[in-house]
Amino acid sequence: MGSVADYFGSLVFDDRVMKATLSDEVYRSLKKTIDEGATLNNDVANAVAVAMKDWAVAHGATHFTHWFQPLTGVTAEKHDSFITPSPDGRVIMEFSGKELIKGEPDASSFPSGGLRATFEARGYTAWDPTSFAFIKDKTLCIPTAFCSFGGEALDKKTPLLRSMQALNKQALRILRLFGVTDVKCVRTSVGPEQEYFLVDEKLYQQRKDLALTGRTLFGAKPPKGQELSDHYFGVIKPRVAAYMADLNDELWKLGVLAKTQHNEVAPSQHELAPIYATTNIATDHNQLTMEIMQKVATRHGLVCLLHEKPFAGVNGSGKHNNWSMATDTGVNLLTPGETPYENAQFLLFLCAVIKAVDDYQDLLRLSVATAGNDHRLGANEAPPAVISIFLGDELTEIMDAIVTGTPYQDHGKTVMRLGVNVLPSFNRDSTDRNRTSPFAFTGNKFEFRMLGSSNSIACANIMLNAAVAESLRIYADRLEAADDFETTLNDMIKKTFTDHRRIIFNGNGYDDAWIQEATQKRGLLNLRTTPDALPMLLQKKNIDLLTSHGIYSESEIQSRYEITLDNYCKTVSIEALTMVDMARKDILPAIESYVKDIAETLVAKKSVLPEISCQYEKSLISKLSRLVDEIDSAIGKLESALALYKTLTDVTEASIMIRDKILSLMTEARIVCDEAETLVGEKYWPFPTYEKLLFGVK
Ligand code: ADP
Ligand code: MG
Repeated sequence: MGSVADYFGSLVFDDRVMKATLSDEVYRSLKKTIDEGATLNNDVANAVAVAMKDWAVAHGATHFTHWFQPLTGVTAEKHDSFITPSPDGRVIMEFSGKELIKGEPDASSFPSGGLRATFEARGYTAWDPTSFAFIKDKTLCIPTAFCSFGGEALDKKTPLLRSMQALNKQALRILRLFGVTDVKCVRTSVGPEQEYFLVDEKLYQQRKDLALTGRTLFGAKPPKGQELSDHYFGVIKPRVAAYMADLNDELWKLGVLAKTQHNEVAPSQHELAPIYATTNIATDHNQLTMEIMQKVATRHGLVCLLHEKPFAGVNGSGKHNNWSMATDTGVNLLTPGETPYENAQFLLFLCAVIKAVDDYQDLLRLSVATAGNDHRLGANEAPPAVISIFLGDELTEIMDAIVTGTPYQDHGKTVMRLGVNVLPSFNRDSTDRNRTSPFAFTGNKFEFRMLGSSNSIACANIMLNAAVAESLRIYADRLEAADDFETTLNDMIKKTFTDHRRIIFNGNGYDDAWIQEATQKRGLLNLRTTPDALPMLLQKKNIDLLTSHGIYSESEIQSRYEITLDNYCKTVSIEALTMVDMARKDILPAIESYVKDIAETLVAKKSVLPEISCQYEKSLISKLSRLVDEIDSAIGKLESALALYKTLTDVTEASIMIRDKILSLMTEARIVCDEAETLVGEKYWPFPTYEKLLFGVK
């Protein structure tokens, strides 16, 4: 293989390839569609399809697929080959503009939350020309949106694109008010940092819990965990390094800007971060990254775990969503400017985010709510379920100065004036690192840290874009109607800083005292679990926000509510059933056979030395016999609860039973099984221990 620069993007039908393979006229018209959303005519679509097909076939592709993101959270594809029979009995390779633009997968088995009755099985996929087509496994993959025939979105890409449009529209209104006329569009960008675990595939195969649920449901704490912090940024082991190198190659060929890799805090935990990209492309690339991570792992005899909490007792995995807004002229709207006037514009965009995060804490929280992520948020792990913003000391001082109307003491730098308020200049890199905040300003972008490692980043960005679009809409309405722009602007900035001061917190987010203060003194929401968070989606203020900006229809919101809760219930009930199965079929028999051997040893010893007490054997047999009964009883309770759960038909009710009953019974069952593990001889234990799983990859 040549140098990275040579093969980067070699499997992508990108701008370079388009320029080389399309006529000038077709290229220009496609560019117009990509950059400005102009509709494509048939001739152009046909020409693009032929060029794409020829390029794909030359690169070994035999099939094409519309690649989309249904509400299952993973991507979907259905492959069709390019072959068309020709009269001489042979085949030719064909692909039309119609096939490029629209597909009709039989969609009846994808979750729709009641949007598409099963008799209306058809859904359709529509090409998203802003995300480049690529070749994967000899298949030309065409990124698409997925909708019902009634036009309701059945995927995550459609509302994401709508939310980007909504933000664009409102941000442009603000820029015009500031006299900016050359900007054609404002886009949000995202750089998602992705955490994951690697475990040995042979060990993984021996664990039903990992194979069926992606996490360990049992497992006693090993003598060593992450307490020495010797894994974080540590030397990468050869097998892992080989995996990372292979992964980078695959991602680079697909045009994914994989940039940073390092070991994470927990043993066997790692991180990969790409260079940021426009949000819908970053979302496609993150889905692709998760898929390729898993695929490449198997080539190395490894399994890549993307679950949020594969192991109890060590850190879980998240995803940091670094987010910013930028103009097509290359200006990051979250970068403090050089002049007071630019700073006023910056402060207004900053205000928009602060107001958005405070007003829509609930939407942000529920956008990352899954059964897996509940093990991180609100548990004793980063970040908490309470949303707050870290602004850093300097910006917070500025904020407070504006609120109280006192001049900002800027530590020796020039203080500049705009209108009635003091809007000083400040350094962009003055923010210190705070790793515990769920939503941190990091100089020129915000880092939303609550996402789970397996989440699609679409949902979080839909809500974030929507909420910020709403702040900007309110500001634009007021400013457009204002007689005195500067006074109104200053008043609005001051009002936002005053009204939303409560969401700013620069301290330690893991501290229990903070949760107390946040919920009791500041009135911030603490939505600990998915069933706590999801019902907020149906609140009027949230439905109003999402429908008024054209991001979701009411029925789409209802369907997403049901699908998300249903997924939560199914995930946990599969885990509970797996626990029952493992306890009954593997753990109890293993303990019994150990006890039997110990008992036989006891009898044998007694026959040789009748006077010996056999204290050790007796005590072990007694402890394990007690545990066997306790396990049987704990599992019995779980089975009864599951039987009751099965009779529930209402998804909200079911989710509450899972939260309040099933999960705590699972915890109880695990405690007794894990205790038994510490007493039973290792060769009797039916599956690999935490020690082997966490330290097994050399
Ligand atoms: P860390 O948070 O680990 O210190 P960085 O802050 O440098 O690392 O970057 C983390 C991620 O943020 C990367 O994916 C990077 O590309 C992305 N990023 C950097 N600048 C921006 C920006 N303006 N908008 C969105 N993402 C950005
Ligand atoms: Mg970061």
